[in-house]
Amino acid sequence: MNIDFNQKKALIRVDFNVPLDKQYSITDDTRMREALPTLRYVMEHGGAVILMSHLGRPLDKLKEDGTVNVEKFTLNHLTKHLSILLGRHVKFCPETVGDTATLMAEALQPGEVLLLENTRFQKEEEKGDQEFSKKLAALGDVYVNDAFGTAHRAHASTTVIAHFFPKEARTFGFLMENEIKNANMLLHKPARPFTAITGGAKVSDKIMLLERFLDLVDNIIIGGGMAYTFAKAQGGKIGNSLVENDRLDMALELLKKAEAKGVKIYLPEDSIVADKFDNAASHHATSSYDIPEGWMGLDIGEKANAAFAEVIKNSKTIIWNGPMGVFEMPNFANGTKAVAVAVAEATKAGAYSLVGGGDSVAAVNQLGLADEVSFVSTGGGAMREMLEGKELPGIKAIHG
Ligand code: AMP
Repeated sequence: MNIDFNQKKALIRVDFNVPLDKQYSITDDTRMREALPTLRYVMEHGGAVILMSHLGRPLDKLKEDGTVNVEKFTLNHLTKHLSILLGRHVKFCPETVGDTATLMAEALQPGEVLLLENTRFQKEEEKGDQEFSKKLAALGDVYVNDAFGTAHRAHASTTVIAHFFPKEARTFGFLMENEIKNANMLLHKPARPFTAITGGAKVSDKIMLLERFLDLVDNIIIGGGMAYTFAKAQGGKIGNSLVENDRLDMALELLKKAEAKGVKIYLPEDSIVADKFDNAASHHATSSYDIPEGWMGLDIGEKANAAFAEVIKNSKTIIWNGPMGVFEMPNFANGTKAVAVAVAEATKAGAYSLVGGGDSVAAVNQLGLADEVSFVSTGGGAMREMLEGKELPGIKAIHG
């Protein structure tokens, strides 16, 4: 952050979209804690902090009378906890822009922190409205974007606002800087072999990423529900496993392209199949290509675990996005666990590893392995789009 914050009001876009329970208590404050280095830096360098964030999707869940459910989605739920984390009282402004916001921002002193109301209470936010962005911008002297998780959205507070600040008065926060640096580690001259591990439910969600990986990596491991679309496309019997029948051709096409490009694709030879989608279901191991009717693959099997671990341990660069099975159910978490352990071991042996995407991040956290991989990305969608080779609007807006 090469900006002099002394006596400046820094408008900082953070991603405080944290999960809340029914009493509106924060159940996981990771996103808040991750923003602290940036906030502390500004405060310690003589700046005042004005925070913008969204929380949930308030406009999708309006009250019966058509108004925003302020009680549920107010960012004020976070004020107390943020005050504790920062060790100083955080002021809350009950609006995002307007007379009160202007007065409170003007009165803010160096070292003080003001949290603005949920940016998504305003429909102008997601539309990237110019007027709204201009009003927001007028609240501060400099703009800092530290919300990597929303950097792929051209919203008012994440992108459009940056245009109202000259180049020398806009910058990335530490969290976002780190995300960009790590994405670039994968995109520019990665050590080889480079292995991508993909999993999760849908091929359609990941197809762009898989296509992109063909130009980047040496090996692609495919597990999770998406593996069965590939198995069926190759003529396998997959019983009642998850499948996207409209993606069968695409799956075959991808396998062909991989062969032409010399990229090795690893699919699970065996699976743990269950008679229903339930942790308590009967289950056993079988070939992923010969699953009986009435049974569904919910995890990869031991042979796949061993084969995947071998590829992972021989890799020098690893990216992992998506679980190998329904890891939320303990009986179907072994494949994801085996992959996580292999990634941790490869990292220990000198590989660079990046875990990105909500569910794989949840899996490494659940297994307590987050500190044993090189980097855990906070922004699933944003990281995915970066790896897909897209220029993210939130990044472009700062670079200009
Ligand atoms: P995604 O958001 O596409 O990464 O998918 C993550 C979800 O995929 C997780 O909630 C997993 O439980 C689910 N999943 C992984 N493997 C399977 C499978 N074999 N069958 C059904 N769902 C799966």
